[in-house]
Amino acid sequence: MTKWVYNFGAGVNDGHAGLRNLLGGKGANLAEMASIDLPVPPGFTITTEVCTSYYDNDKKYPADLRGQVDAALARIETAVGRKFGDKDKPLLVSVRSGARVSMPGMMDTVLNLGLNDSTVQGLAAGSGDARFAWDSYRRFIQMYGSVVLGVDHHRFEEIIESVKLDADVIEDTALTPEDWQRVVEGYKQMVAEETGKPFPQDPVDQLWGAIGAVFGSWMNPRANTYRRLHDIPASWGTAVNVQAMVFGNMGDDCATGVCFTRDPSTGLNEFYGEYLVNAQGEDVVAGIRTPRPLSKAYAKPGEVSMEEALPQAYAELNKVRDVLEKHYKDMQDIEFTVQQNKLYMLQTRAGKRSAAASLRIAVEMANEGLIDRDTAIMRVNPASLDQLLHPTLDPKAEKKRFAKGLPASPGAASGAVVFSADEAELRAHKGESVILVRIETSPEDIHGMHAARGILTTRGGMTSHAAVVARGMGRPCVAGAGGINVDYGAQTLSADGVLLRAGDILTIDGATGEVFAGAVKMIEPKLSGEFGTLMGWADAARRLKVRANAETPLDAETARKFGAEGIGLCRTEHMFFDPQRIGAMRQMIMAKDEAGRRAALAKLLPFQRDDFRALFKIMEGLPVTIRLLDPPLHEFLPHGEAELAEVAHALGMNEAAIKARAEELSETNPMLGHRGCRLGISYPEIYEMQARAIFEAAIEVGKTAAAPVPEIMIPLVGTKRELDITRAQIEAVAKDVFAEAGTSIEYSIGTMIELPRAVLIADLIAENADFFSFGTNDLTQTVFGLSRDDAGKFLPHYVEQGILTKDPFVSIDVDGVGAMVRIGAEKGRATKPGLKLGICGEHGGDPASIAFCEAVKLDYVSCSPYRVPVARLAAAQAAIEGAQANSTD
Ligand code: ADP
Ligand code: MG
Ligand code: MG
Repeated sequence: MTKWVYNFGAGVNDGHAGLRNLLGGKGANLAEMASIDLPVPPGFTITTEVCTSYYDNDKKYPADLRGQVDAALARIETAVGRKFGDKDKPLLVSVRSGARVSMPGMMDTVLNLGLNDSTVQGLAAGSGDARFAWDSYRRFIQMYGSVVLGVDHHRFEEIIESVKLDADVIEDTALTPEDWQRVVEGYKQMVAEETGKPFPQDPVDQLWGAIGAVFGSWMNPRANTYRRLHDIPASWGTAVNVQAMVFGNMGDDCATGVCFTRDPSTGLNEFYGEYLVNAQGEDVVAGIRTPRPLSKAYAKPGEVSMEEALPQAYAELNKVRDVLEKHYKDMQDIEFTVQQNKLYMLQTRAGKRSAAASLRIAVEMANEGLIDRDTAIMRVNPASLDQLLHPTLDPKAEKKRFAKGLPASPGAASGAVVFSADEAELRAHKGESVILVRIETSPEDIHGMHAARGILTTRGGMTSHAAVVARGMGRPCVAGAGGINVDYGAQTLSADGVLLRAGDILTIDGATGEVFAGAVKMIEPKLSGEFGTLMGWADAARRLKVRANAETPLDAETARKFGAEGIGLCRTEHMFFDPQRIGAMRQMIMAKDEAGRRAALAKLLPFQRDDFRALFKIMEGLPVTIRLLDPPLHEFLPHGEAELAEVAHALGMNEAAIKARAEELSETNPMLGHRGCRLGISYPEIYEMQARAIFEAAIEVGKTAAAPVPEIMIPLVGTKRELDITRAQIEAVAKDVFAEAGTSIEYSIGTMIELPRAVLIADLIAENADFFSFGTNDLTQTVFGLSRDDAGKFLPHYVEQGILTKDPFVSIDVDGVGAMVRIGAEKGRATKPGLKLGICGEHGGDPASIAFCEAVKLDYVSCSPYRVPVARLAAAQAAIEGAQANSTD
């Protein structure tokens, strides 16, 4: 015989916390609390298997369910000394839904079930409190009527209002027993009219009606939508809990409340919660009366805390708090009721908490000895750290919302509106805070994006240029705010009839996508305290090294501040977009022959050398991986007509010649075109200049500070010969520079692995490479055979339809791209066992991708500076999980 019903409370606990799948979270924890002798009103749980069976069998219950429910109900009757439907001592119960995970959209709880025209008299007589009895009955009809019978809740409120009007009172609590009785009469009449049937009087009918409503709600549209959004399978089913009522509405020595064992927003180890005297169930959250703080510590002047109002019950609750934390070893979210000074526990679960609270609670619990350090590390969601590393809007600050876009890059920023990158840079140099507002951004805007405090675009999605670059730089960004109209000519932006001009102050919240007119007060991030402690523990636990993608001194400094152990990707092309350099770059591109190119490159050399010198100094001997020029040359050419004319003038060339050259360089698929080492092979002088800049800078820095160890990286290698040729060029430059300087430095030369062919011949490539860095952005494009720039037309749809489980540019596609990385790593190490292996690109900061990197035993991951702490924590979690998996094998 299948056991469909599990008892809890009053000495019989069939279940425990480990049976969450069968009993739902609420039922499992009620049994667990009862089994550790906490005061839980007795009850029973109808298992989730009943729900599954109900839907598998044409909405029919298992045949033996009824008998099991009857027996469990009889047990409650004996335990509390009351009988279901008894006119003198009626048993009342609550009927509560509860799935494995808490799920909005499910049926609301029905309280006081078992009341009818006769039992209400018994309740009144037995308690000596007619007001309480009629109040409970009207609550029952109201809940049952709306939740089970589907009557609009407004209809109930109208009736209360009219009785209150007649009685000339404002507060519900001022109504007399007779008033409540009138409410009940009104309710019953209204329900009969609405449903065409009298309100059910038989408690057994009431019970099965409520049970059926819980199971029915499992498949209602709200629940279905929620499940779809949160990947919860319909096959899980919900459980139903039936539990003896306790009453928080029997007078001033009664109360009901919800609380957290620690402050869920700050993590402070203080009892945090709210309660209401003389109230029941959802009153606390319903907003009809204003709940009061639980503990004195949180009471404002004039507010009476539960600690003061009900000291005895509070002391008991405080003990329970301690017991629960020690038992569950985590912060708990508790629901309770006090009936005539006696405390009853009605629910406990792990409490939801803010990122800051999660960090503080994990560290403090480890320090208290409640959990070990590994557990503390596992408790904090790495992705949530992002919120802590940026300034955030003060939740208490007043703000005027202007528009809303996509939360493209976290953090908040305020500043004066500017509409161009040059203007952003100009005003930032003068020390002003600016927000760069663009319809969309392009690579030429990078200097302005860097100078700005934040970026706002009206077009583009989460992977638009603005979003990707802003995340990389750690600049807050709101992208795709389509409700805003930008007029570059008039220098204005407007939304919903509100107009802002250049220079007006604007605030963006990159964590929510909200945009506000005017300045909003901010809270600065703190990197010390619990953050520092947890990071220290994570560093001790992880195997993977964490580096940063950085090319500017500011990025490098940020990276070090956040604990980067080197630079894993310095994209040298970003150094050419600066207005001072782009001219020489364009001159190089326009040059007709090698001599012309060399002349232009000679102008770029000092700039590059300065850049590298600055980076090497900041990194103080840590490894710095420098990628030689990668993008196709036409990316550096002017776009609009006006700019074209300007460039022609600056270079002393005619516009037609520039246009012709631009056309010559333009490609159908630039991503698969003349780029990476293909450029280095066509124009060896470019890589030679870059190599010279690297070596000269390294020698210079090495004279006075820790000697840098540059790792020179060749992009887009697909054949071994490409690496052989470019490597030989670089080594020749090294020889020259060392001879000129009369000294030498250590360096290494490696390659990006970002083409499937490179993966397949990784054993050959490794013969001439000192390291591999998997460029998983390009590898994803080339493995999937798609271009990121064009993927916006179908990729979101693919993810929505479940054709792909995740955006492969955000989280590595383990099956395909991951297999490539695995093969590349194995082949590379087969040739050179000690070959250093890393990964760079957006994946390097994604926790799931980092877990993969740990599984294939790469040496390091490299990510944007602001993701470094995320990666450190994710790497530690991956190492801990890996160790746990091995020990249970
Ligand atoms: P939810 O899942 O929405 O929190 P619950 O089933 O926890 O719904 O019920 C909500 C509230 O109803 C509880 O917090 C508690 O105050 C009250 N409640 C539920 N069962 C009982 C009971 N047996 N006695 C008294 N109050 C109850
Ligand atoms: Mg609810
Ligand atoms: Mg609850």
